[in-house]
Amino acid sequence: MSRIDFIDLKAQRRRLGTRIEQAMARVVDHSGFILGPEVTELEKRLSAFCGARHTVTCANGTDALELVLMAEKIGPGDAVFVPAFTFVATAEVIPGTGATPYFVDVNEDDFCISPSSLEQAIAGAKAKGLKPRMVIPVDLFGQPADYDALLDIASKHDLVVLSDAAQSFGAELHGRKTGTFGKYTTTSFFPAKPLGCYGDGGAVFTDDDAQADLLRSLRFHGKGQDKYDNVRLGMNSRLDTLQAAILLEKLDIFADEIVARMRIAQRYNDLLRQTFSVPQLRQGATSVWAQYTLLLENRDAIAKACATEKIPTAIYYPIPLHLQQGYKQYPVVGNGLPVSEKLAQKVISLPMHPYLDEATQDRIVATILAVAK
Ligand SMILES: *Cc1c(COP(=O)(O)O)cnc(C)c1O
Repeated sequence: MSRIDFIDLKAQRRRLGTRIEQAMARVVDHSGFILGPEVTELEKRLSAFCGARHTVTCANGTDALELVLMAEKIGPGDAVFVPAFTFVATAEVIPGTGATPYFVDVNEDDFCISPSSLEQAIAGAKAKGLKPRMVIPVDLFGQPADYDALLDIASKHDLVVLSDAAQSFGAELHGRKTGTFGKYTTTSFFPAKPLGCYGDGGAVFTDDDAQADLLRSLRFHGKGQDKYDNVRLGMNSRLDTLQAAILLEKLDIFADEIVARMRIAQRYNDLLRQTFSVPQLRQGATSVWAQYTLLLENRDAIAKACATEKIPTAIYYPIPLHLQQGYKQYPVVGNGLPVSEKLAQKVISLPMHPYLDEATQDRIVATILAVAK
């Protein structure tokens, strides 16, 4: 039995042949390792790809979130609303600013932040004397959150919308790509993300000219005219030129990879729909399928059967953030977050990447259907 990869980065590398090595060799030759020409080129290409006016690359997706909080001067007394069912980075960046992360529940059908729970959280924050300032919807597993409803709520309450698109870069809502739904969008180029580099990387997208300039200063020690002119507090968070060069090669095949991801997810849906609760896309939304995630009553039995067959599975996420040791002290909407807590008990993600062949997919499907019988 051949080994199955949860995410097969080697298949992508085989497809790209020597292009990545050549791109890296060019950088080593010109030696512009920090903010070299490939970084500028990548920022232009990413803006063209997603339709945002500005792309500001940075060292990782977590820094991208933090840079936006700094650019918006989020601080003590402010409430920043985040879903509890997400990767920790979404909330992690908030306490350092002095602001309060406020945990909101998610929808069971799309795994993304629930608009009605957000409205309840805004009222709750006000009652606690906090100032509602920002919401960070997460496009979990690759599908854009419900921005139609979320943008309405945000404008009613004067909240800045920061879209955490670490898992959804390339996905669409009503024909527009992630990158332009909120005032800011961030993404991550961590290797396992849909568009990943060979290390850490991230980006902020915005249509706001002044804020884009501010973000460029913040990522480079708060520079003014140059790096020895420090007009504000900043940080050191740049995307390495080597990573930009790698991403430029990968971006060339990204649209084609998204099509493959959609085909593979559709095939999973067709084969599993009769037996399991398969992932749902909202009207007008596409997904880049960072994860293919099922909601199961008998998760443990299926995880065990897969392990026996050497099929890797993963649980994103086993503990919602409001129940994590490091985050228990922060407020949650109402008395708890029942959907986040339920999902943490029932989700399981199957191998998903653009190079998953039908025979392998059939083996995965047969294994989990055998448990269900
Ligand atoms: C991966 C991820 C991040 C953080 O990205 P890094 O590049 O690893 O710092 C943030 N939010 C979500 C939802 C993620 O999945």
